[in-house]
This record gives sequence, structure tokens and C-alpha cells, in this order.
Amino acid sequence: MSNSSLDERTLVLIKPDAVRRGLVGEILGRFERKGLTIDAMALRGMDAELADQHYAEHVDKAFYPPLKDFMTGGPLVALVLSGDQVIEVVRGLVGATDGRRAVAGTIRGDLSLSNRENLVHASDSVDSAKREIALWFPELG
Ligand code: ADP
Ligand code: MG
Repeated sequence: MSNSSLDERTLVLIKPDAVRRGLVGEILGRFERKGLTIDAMALRGMDAELADQHYAEHVDKAFYPPLKDFMTGGPLVALVLSGDQVIEVVRGLVGATDGRRAVAGTIRGDLSLSNRENLVHASDSVDSAKREIALWFPELG
């Protein structure tokens, strides 16, 4: 069963705005209540080099410099979650990128009013999850 989607993992960052606003417990609770498993978790900082690696697909975009300032501007909580189809499930719980447009009931829809300070990062595919977990938690390899 090693290829079962039950074994799927995703990388989540509870972003600096969430830590600053005291929303870590609220956000973590939603993942826990959904039935997902926390495989790893740590309060971490994102330095400039890690930001460029983590957001490799976005480094050339106009929104990247302020995004980088935001993400490197305070502590965040990095975690690896596992569960059945966890990548898609977590993206659903998190909601659309722009908090102003994210549907009510999602983390961003309920708690964010910004397209930058949107509280959570979550891997968007099996490949990006593998890449991001290796970046943040190489020991899980
Ligand atoms: P998501 O986090 O939903 O996967 P993206 O991968 O497209 O979104 O973008 C990465 C992050 O960059 C977003 O979560 C958000 O913080 C920021 N971002 C994306 N688009 C914009 C934008 N148009 N303006 C400002 N920030 C943005
Ligand atoms: Mg993304």
C-alpha cells in the first residue's frame, strides 16, 4: 500500500500574518478537526535564500518582492500533514489565493482580507509537496 493516497503528504506554512494575529491555534485546529495527521511541525524563520527556493516559480513575478518581505518578516509555523488525498483536501480547507474572494468557510475566506497576507501556504501538487517537504524537513526524506 506504499502508493496509497492515504500516505500522501503536504507542506503547510502558517504564515507570519497568522502568527502575528494569534491565529495559529485556530488554523491548526481546522486541520486537526478534519482528521489530518501532523507528521512534523516547527516554529521557523524563512530567510531570503529559502524564500527564493520555496517560491522558485514566482521569483520573477511583480508580486514577489513584497511577498518575500512579508514571508521573511517574522516567524512562521511549518508543518507536514498526511492523510487521504491531503494535498487537495488542504487546498480546499485553505481556499482561493485572494482572501477577499475566497469562499466563506475556508481559512482564507473566513480570516483574510488580502491577496498577499492570506495566512497559509499549502503545496499544490504531489511534485511540489515532495520538493517543499525536502526543502523544509529534509530529515523526513
Ligand atoms: P497560493 O498560495 O494560493 O498557491 P500562489 O502560488 O499563486 O497562491 O502565490 C503564492 C503567494 O503569493 C500567495 O499565497 C500570496 O501570498 C502571494 N500572491 C499571489 N498572487 C498575488 C498577487 N496578485 N498580489 C500579491 N500577492 C500575491
Ligand atoms: Mg502556490
